[in-house]
Amino acid sequence: MSKMDDLRALREARYERHVARGAQPAPPRRPVQPQAAEPERPTAATTDSSADELCGHRNMSGRTCTREKGHAAKSHRYS
Ligand SMILES: [Zn+2]
Repeated sequence: MSKMDDLRALREARYERHVARGAQPAPPRRPVQPQAAEPERPTAATTDSSADELCGHRNMSGRTCTREKGHAAKSHRYS
């Protein structure tokens, strides 16, 4: 695997996570509203990838797909 493939996989993963979050384009700019602040996530910061639900597809050698559940990418990823 080349470095470019790694980069592309990273980008795809980030995109899928973005889509899974609601597919809503972020507003360009929003005035800061004290009460509209996002609630803090207690443990999500440290267990970001492992906390997500995974596709779980198994390949021939018994590895598990590490993409998000219901990923849009056609191929599974085993890393
Ligand atoms: Zn998969």
